[in-house]
Amino acid sequence: MGKLVRALSADGSVLCSSVDAKDICNEIVRIHRPSPVATAAMGRLAAAGALMGALMKGEDDALTLRINGGGVGGTVLCVSDYMGNVRCCCDNPQADLPLKENGKLDVSGFVGNDGFLAVIRDLGLKEPYATQSPIVSGEIAEDITAYYAVSEQIPTVCALGVLVDRDHSVKAAGGYIIQLVPPVNEAAIDFIEKNIKNMQSVTALLSEGKTAEEIALMGLEGLQGEILDSWECGYKCRCSRERTERMLISLGKKELVRLAEESEEKTEICCQFCGKKYYFSDEELIALSENC
Ligand SMILES: [Zn+2]
Repeated sequence: MGKLVRALSADGSVLCSSVDAKDICNEIVRIHRPSPVATAAMGRLAAAGALMGALMKGEDDALTLRINGGGVGGTVLCVSDYMGNVRCCCDNPQADLPLKENGKLDVSGFVGNDGFLAVIRDLGLKEPYATQSPIVSGEIAEDITAYYAVSEQIPTVCALGVLVDRDHSVKAAGGYIIQLVPPVNEAAIDFIEKNIKNMQSVTALLSEGKTAEEIALMGLEGLQGEILDSWECGYKCRCSRERTERMLISLGKKELVRLAEESEEKTEICCQFCGKKYYFSDEELIALSENC
């Protein structure tokens, strides 16, 4: 399981959340069989999704992060719940790119930087609340930081990292988000800037054996940070036959009849998040079409 931790400065003006997402990323590898660069892109977005999901309050709240900057990977998408459980998918998880000159995975090439990061919050209201901000670099962490600055006017620092091993498994992955809680304490900003400068990359910290707790407290160094809470999170798909039926009904009568006519015997619907397959006979499709 992954681990989420939230820590707060003594004066309550700075919140630092961190996540150890190694297990989540290895589940992404198992399900999607992505190329190393796709693992890094999906894993970073999943870590961000877990961190941002955990900032929601309601049990049924859902958060979707969708990024597409015209890169070879197409759209990368992550849905998370209020506990930071995530599920992800990507248009082209097998698309690959050569390493960058500095030897790092080319996540910005995979995502692209001509497009938007969309953040969609489903808080159980009539319509989900969607905002989007232009992609800054396609490296994802910078794009999340820019999203908070542009769309939410919340000063935020975001760092994300996924270290892919030679056998394509994930050696270390995670991230943290530091946010100022209004009213802003200007003095705290100096400490945060110093802390970020002194902190190694997320993957270096995790590879060294630092825990999510330790990383959350490092972000609050000098501010007498204390752990608020911590809990396990994971890669969780919420698909079911019932949800798949509802999705089919939403396609409309015409489309369902067409599916029934064109299928040999059974129509296969594959969950884009976990790969689970659901089968529907022609009779079942026609019966569903009566509900459209
Ligand atoms: Zn599923």
